Amino acid sequence: MAQIRLQGVYKRYDNAEKKLFGKKKLNDFAVKDLSFECADKSFIGILGPSGCGKSTTLRMIAGLEQITDGSMFIDDVRINNLLPKDRNIGLAFEDYALYPPLSVYDNLAFNLRAKKMPEAEVKKAIDKVAPLIKVDELLNMKPSALSGGQKQRVNIARAIIRQPGLLLLDEPLSHLDGKMRQTLRQEIKRMHREIECTTIIVTHDQIEAMSLADVIIIMKDGVLQQMGTPLEVYDSPANEFVAGFIGEPPMNLLPSIIAKTQDGFFFTFAGSDLRVKVPERYNGAVSDGMKLTLGVRPVDVLLTGKQSSTPAPVSIYENFGDERRVGIRVGEYHLNLTTAADVFFHRGDIVYLEFNSQKTHLFNAETGAAIKGTQ
Ligand code: ADP
Ligand code: MG
Repeated sequence: MAQIRLQGVYKRYDNAEKKLFGKKKLNDFAVKDLSFECADKSFIGILGPSGCGKSTTLRMIAGLEQITDGSMFIDDVRINNLLPKDRNIGLAFEDYALYPPLSVYDNLAFNLRAKKMPEAEVKKAIDKVAPLIKVDELLNMKPSALSGGQKQRVNIARAIIRQPGLLLLDEPLSHLDGKMRQTLRQEIKRMHREIECTTIIVTHDQIEAMSLADVIIIMKDGVLQQMGTPLEVYDSPANEFVAGFIGEPPMNLLPSIIAKTQDGFFFTFAGSDLRVKVPERYNGAVSDGMKLTLGVRPVDVLLTGKQSSTPAPVSIYENFGDERRVGIRVGEYHLNLTTAADVFFHRGDIVYLEFNSQKTHLFNAETGAAIKGTQ
């Protein structure tokens, strides 16, 4: 059991400067001013595109990388200078690093035996952990005989067998195919509920983070963008990056210019006649001629069927079985929407749109920061 806290953590790799031909700038840093706190027993997801500093963050927590500046605490003990072995951490990375000549049992036993644990205790520990992540049937097999999913299970079992206070998982599902990912995802979730070990998972896959974690930390270019529950980051993205990163199909993000008329404010779009009413809760935040980015998820673009709004032509229609995706041309942009399975369209059909006003997001055109409306 452990609570972990990072305070203003920076990481700059020693060779970063050379890569940039001696130019020293903040971009040298793989992680910049990172602060967050994970409660005891929580399941945290660190999410972001490749290269954003996820693994660096995890490796600093594990003690495998020195931090350049800032502080880290586990249960209020500053761990900056603590050796990895003294941090009580279990680690599982995407490559399994199992010892090929050893059976699964001996792989699991390896670190316990290294600590001179008596054989009877070793067996007890393996008997306890093996069923949690379904490796109990694999104990006599060699790693070479295991599937990718089975190897990853053994990898995780090995990380939790010493009952660490903190479990760190770096892209543990990334080598697995779709069905296996889903199965193992559910098993990791169940295992976390049983062992109640504070867990941090690093992933570039938003579905993985959304389904596993209680709290998600979204990073970009080494900087924390937002920390919140899956619902918070989905419903109230702090900025345009988070808005576009979370959700599948992705949120529509359209540059828009506000026009004021007698009937209130409208979103207008360059090169298009389409006008959509701005939800009233934003009336205090917008002004005539203001440029902003409109964010609306495909599920929140609604077909009204009545001719109260501006007509728009269908440009793309895709059939996904239980969901249809429709692309609407809006000037130089595409607005995507999803409809129920029993609605059919053809290219060129005219539709009438409105946006679900409670689910419309506005972002500052320059900074990308969310513009708040009244509730
Ligand atoms: P992620 O896990 O999110 O894909 P990483 O933490 O691995 O990202 O990398 C963050 C940044 O740090 C990247 O720009 C990467 O090139 C750089 N980086 C990672 N490891 C090293 C290293 N050992 N030496 C120099 N730069 C590194
Ligand atoms: Mg990584």
